[in-house]
Parts: sequence; structure tokens; C-alpha cells
Amino acid sequence: MTDQSNGSGPPSSSPFGGLSISILDEEAKGASGPSTVRTAEGRVDAKVVIIGSGPAGLTAAIYASRANLEPVVLAGSAPGGQLMLTSDVENYPGFEDAIQGPDLMAAMRAQAERFGTRMIDVDIDRVDFSERPFRIWARGVEYRAQAVIIATGASALWLGLESETRLRGRGVSACATCDGFFFKDREIAVIGGGDTALEEATYLTRFATKVHLLHRRDTFRGSKIMVDRAAAHDKIQIHTNTAVAEVMGDSKVDGLRLTDTESGEERHLPVDGVFIAIGYRPNTEAFRDWLDVDEKGYLVVHDETGSKIEGVFIAGDVHDHRYRQAVTAASDGCKAAIDAERWLESEGITEAASASAW
Ligand code: NAP
Repeated sequence: MTDQSNGSGPPSSSPFGGLSISILDEEAKGASGPSTVRTAEGRVDAKVVIIGSGPAGLTAAIYASRANLEPVVLAGSAPGGQLMLTSDVENYPGFEDAIQGPDLMAAMRAQAERFGTRMIDVDIDRVDFSERPFRIWARGVEYRAQAVIIATGASALWLGLESETRLRGRGVSACATCDGFFFKDREIAVIGGGDTALEEATYLTRFATKVHLLHRRDTFRGSKIMVDRAAAHDKIQIHTNTAVAEVMGDSKVDGLRLTDTESGEERHLPVDGVFIAIGYRPNTEAFRDWLDVDEKGYLVVHDETGSKIEGVFIAGDVHDHRYRQAVTAASDGCKAAIDAERWLESEGITEAASASAW
């Protein structure tokens, strides 16, 4: 099974091909090549660099590339964002039947590439936003951008137990889509009371003989339809007021030590796997020296998509802990690209775009 240590990685067989930096080198040779080029120093200069490749980053890329901004997307080493960890997406408009999360992200990526987006599957190491062009370093390459759109999303949270860390990849997972298959005909547990836990519990019934959904309170944070669906499923057993004190097992998970959060009583639940689905942490580490974050660590936006630095824009779950939906992230990406384009234009860096560009 895979170790989804940051919870934002894709299944091991990514549907994404991924462009390499060498493509920039090839294009830079042409006399009429694009303005996004790798310089002789090995640097990549771009009008717009988008950091992140979930719905926010890829929608920003679709809009920015259609406005001839030739964006570079630093897509991360595990591109596609949280939808890569989702199975059926039933609430993204346009799909009467559910679409699989990875399929939706592959389609968004192809759409962005169709209009000339350069996609580079690297994690960023650090940024310097002290002056323009802004500078971003990723795997030894320096990227310079007149405008930056940050769309780095959020990553899965863990319980923080020593036993959970020790057995991660040995029965402990944060990715049902990646690892569910490994629990065919086994009994497993899912931790959490939000939509992620409810969705994962339902998804995992495809493989497991029984799924125990363990939630620390007696009311759910998740939506009523998902609670009802899980409660009605004959393979799901819901345990409320239940916390995990320890993941048991030497070389692989063989059970959980549970605590009743009301009585304090302990009991043992034998399971072969446990999926942690307790929410997310925004991916803001690289930006904290430059931008404001709120008390939960999310980036603070100014005037819809702006930051406190002119030319640095923010989109998606990296700032949004209220809605956190694929469609709201996509909407944010659209707005950030439009704002970046208008800002570049106002700075005289690009010519006025025609209204039809959007
Ligand atoms: P969430 O809504 O924040 O729920 C996290 C759950 O984990 C809560 O029930 C919380 O318990 C529990 N939890 C947190 N820390 C814990 C800990 N240390 N130990 C035990 N339990 C802990 O997160 P989410 O479920 O990941 O959902 C995030 C957002 O994505 C939501 O807006 C959700 O609607 C959306 N989403 C939508 C879909 C869909 O529509 N298909 C699917 C997935 C997610 P408490 O309730 O006690 O705080």
C-alpha cells in the first residue's frame, strides 16, 4: 500500500503524463517561441507562475493560458490535489453521473495544456516575494514570475499517535482511493465524522467485509445525505463517542484500542486497516515569511483573490476553510487568473486582453 504522508498524493498510477522542463528548453530555441523560456542560466522566466494543480490551480491555468499569459504550473510531485484521493464526485456541475476524482483532474489538466500551459511536476522549495519578478525555487531551478497564483491547497491531518506513524503504510492510510484495494475481504475502520470519513467509509465497502466508522462525538459534521447513506449501509457500523487511543500491531495493524469519550472506558476492536479522515492542513509553509496567515494557518486574502503583496494572488483551499469544494476552488482559480491578468495589464506588463479571452 502507498504511504500518503502528506495526504495529497495521487494513486501510484497517475493518469497524468506531466511535461518536463526540457520542453521549455526546446520551445526556447524557436525564434518565435513563447515568452515563457528557460534562460541561459537555467532559469525559467514567466509572466505567471501558478503553484499547485488542484481545481484552483488548473482552472487558473485554463483562464491564464486562454488569455495568452503562457502560465507555468508548478504542479507538485503528486499533482492533482485532493480530488486525486476521491472516488465518486457527484457534486461537480456538468456530470449527471458521478465522475471519478482522478478523471476530473486529468481532464482539467489536459484542458489547461491544450491552451499552452506548461505543467512541471515539482514541489517548490522556497520563494522570495521581496521584489518583482517574484522568485520561486523548485528542484534546483529558479522560476521568475511577474505574477504568482498560489493554489497549494491543503493536506490530510493525522491523529498524531506514535503507533499511527509507526504503522503508516502497514495498515494505516489517509487515502481510501489509493489503498482500499489492499483491504479486500478484510475488516477495517475509518476515523472521523465529516464528509471525507463518511465518503471513505462508503467507498471502502467495495472492498472490505465490514467498515467501522469511528467518530469522537455523537453528532456528525458531515452532510445529512452522507450520514444517512453510511447509516443505511449494511457493511458500515457507526461507533459514536469513540476515540482511538492506540493503533495496535507490530509489523502491521491488527486492531485499535478505543476509548469511550463519555465514560472513559476502553475496549479493543480487531481490524486489519485504519483510514484516517479527520480533515486537512493548508499547505502554506513556503509562504509564511511573506504573507499573512489566519489562526488556523490558512492564507489571508485581500479583495477576493489578492494578498498583501501586489501581484501575488491566492486561490482555493489554501485560504478557504469554509467551503473547500472543488467547484469553489475552481471558481477561485478563475477569479485569481482574471485578477492577475488585469493587474499585469495595469502594470503595463501585458497588453489589454480582449473581453472574449475569458
Ligand atoms: P471536516 O469537515 O473538518 O471533519 C473532520 C472530522 O474529523 C470531524 O468530524 C472532526 O470531529 C474529526 N476530527 C478532527 N480531528 C480529530 C482528531 N484528532 N481525532 C478524531 N477526530 C477528529 O473535514 P472533512 O470531512 O475532511 O471535510 C472537509 C470539507 O470537504 C468539508 O467542507 C466537506 O463538506 C468537504 N467534503 C465534501 C465531500 C463531498 O461532498 N463529496 C467529500 C469530502 C469532503 P469533530 O466533528 O468532533 O470536530
